[in-house]
Amino acid sequence: MAKIGFIGLGNMGLPMAKNLVMAGHEVTGFDLIEECISGLVGAGGRGGERIEDCVLGVNAIITMLPEGKHVDSVYGSGILGSAAKDTLLIDCSTIDVDTARSVGEKAKNLGYNMVDAPVSGGTGGAEAGTLTFMVGGTENSFNLAKPYLDVMGKNIVHAGGMGNGQAAKICNNMILGISMIAVSESFAMAEKLGLSAQNLFDITSSSSSQCWAMTSYLPVPGPVPASPANKDYQPGFTAAMMAKDMKLARDAAISSGQKTELADSALQMYERFLAEGGSSKDFSAIYKMINNSS
Ligand code: NAD
Repeated sequence: MAKIGFIGLGNMGLPMAKNLVMAGHEVTGFDLIEECISGLVGAGGRGGERIEDCVLGVNAIITMLPEGKHVDSVYGSGILGSAAKDTLLIDCSTIDVDTARSVGEKAKNLGYNMVDAPVSGGTGGAEAGTLTFMVGGTENSFNLAKPYLDVMGKNIVHAGGMGNGQAAKICNNMILGISMIAVSESFAMAEKLGLSAQNLFDITSSSSSQCWAMTSYLPVPGPVPASPANKDYQPGFTAAMMAKDMKLARDAAISSGQKTELADSALQMYERFLAEGGSSKDFSAIYKMINNSS
């Protein structure tokens, strides 16, 4: 069994680290929030007092941090150069491609194996150990990381070189962010045309407009019992997180030179929804803003 350092024990990181403990690994965790560390200790892990406690004498370091600036600072000032060169580095945070590639390049130049491995599947998937990991890095780094990722996830996909995991994650969420708005606008218009949500769902869910935002996560209460719309839009995946990912998509569009007009409009709509107080609601609650506008 391996010794693992886990940095960032939030909504996602804590259940992921707990699954590693349950699989028999010795996990030392660190977070800026004390209760997050006690959560890991309560599950049989070790609590670090500082980042170094997760970095020295371990086989692998896993990070699950909010944004690129956190990843840049934790790797720049706490991991790279401090960890032994044979320590495997796995960043599971969702961050911008450019930061993922620049941190990965610094790690490679220092002789580390590193992958970016953002996830999809949310907190439910993190708890159940059924996350999808989109992994960027060399074949060798991917093979080294896979046994750890297998404990926390069900689908582990090698997407290519460093940063390609983030590219896959951002492209996926860009489609999701846009398609949720498309479904919301159509169902809101249907209501105004006198067509019930159930009738429209029965037709569209087996027609050419079928998509995940409709069949698994319908933003209108009723036809899909498990969707957040039936639980007062409790997240799930918050609107703030979706706005963050749509901003990452905009940054990637600018840096790659790709025009993304629908994604730009979708980001503006999510930002308006946050300004109206929706940030902690599930992102599908944007349907309510759309349905109330004329
Ligand atoms: P979170 O805010 O709950 O957890 C992040 C944790 O990182 C916090 O506990 C914070 O205290 C800690 N942290 C920040 N800076 C730190 C530092 N310097 N040292 C140690 N700890 C530090 O966020 P989350 O929901 O767990 O998400 C983490 C990442 O996973 C994000 O990039 C997010 O976009 C991505 N993600 C989240 C979900 C989801 O459903 N929540 C789904 C897929 C991907």
